[in-house]
Amino acid sequence: MYQESLSPPQPDPAWTVTDHVPLYLSLDIGEIEEQARRAVTLLGEERCEVCPRLCKVGRLHDERGLCGIGRRAVVASYFAHFGEENCLRGWNGSGTIFFSGCNLRCVFCQNYDISWEVQGERVSPDRLAQMMLELQAMGCHNINWVTPEHVVPQILEAVPGAITGGLRLPIVYNSSAYDSMGSLELMEGIVDIYMPDLKYATVEASRRYSRRADYAEVARATIKEMNRQVGPLRFDERGLARRGLLLRHLVMPGILDETEAVLRFVADELGPDTYVDLMAQYYPAGLVGKAGRTGDAQFEEINRHLYREEYLDVVELGRSFGLRRLDARSLGGADRLVRTLPP
Ligand code: SF4
Repeated sequence: MYQESLSPPQPDPAWTVTDHVPLYLSLDIGEIEEQARRAVTLLGEERCEVCPRLCKVGRLHDERGLCGIGRRAVVASYFAHFGEENCLRGWNGSGTIFFSGCNLRCVFCQNYDISWEVQGERVSPDRLAQMMLELQAMGCHNINWVTPEHVVPQILEAVPGAITGGLRLPIVYNSSAYDSMGSLELMEGIVDIYMPDLKYATVEASRRYSRRADYAEVARATIKEMNRQVGPLRFDERGLARRGLLLRHLVMPGILDETEAVLRFVADELGPDTYVDLMAQYYPAGLVGKAGRTGDAQFEEINRHLYREEYLDVVELGRSFGLRRLDARSLGGADRLVRTLPP
């Protein structure tokens, strides 16, 4: 399965740990089962408390709220993913499990089929544990839960079976950061690497692009909590991520002032040692550019790709704020962007 064309992860002696044991191995199975039992109660008889939306539904009775998922998680796909950061994909890939459904409604969503229309396999805890073990058997370097915010209880129910089945890989929690504190509390000691995507910094952008005015406020608080739990990102001797916070930010054209505010928050509140992936791969998707009720194209300000100069300016801005751990591969990706066209 080795992918020869991939550049290998770069070891970083300043951030290398020799203790490679995943956090969950220091808990006993009984403790994790208890965390899972507490998490299941969040699904609720009449109100779901798994995420900050607090939908008035009883997911314990398989009712569905905005995320579209009831009592059981739905897995859209699971596979060795080679598109993640070098420190996650390594040479055998990141063992990715894509959960179906989503608790946000971002207008530029690039995974519409998975997120807005629930598709995939409805899984029991045993089946989900088996998927993790299959990914480990394939040689993946980690287990990467993508869009886990709305299925934290179901994931926790699967963890004891995965561990007793022999799971020994670090776990990555790959979220939009629109998580509840209650869920994150129950993930403490289970997750090795938190990988939140901080999308914007203001109420206006949160409301306009994710249909949720409190997104930025919630995300700032949850990311601080993630950072408290695991600290800055650290690697093993081969440059593979083992523990810590890997913060992503998708740089979007037309709202670069949001990017500036995000970077300022990271530098001021999380610190210059925060590992940041400034993602350059935005493209118009979802509702962007489509005709709205009036017949006009919607969200025109973000209806284009990012230009190379814009991206490089953002990188410089991050550095000027003192951020010194910007993901190398995403910086290299700037070369693939088109230069700004002359006026
Ligand atoms: S997890 Fe789903 S059902 Fe529960 S509050 Fe969030 S969106 Fe609503």
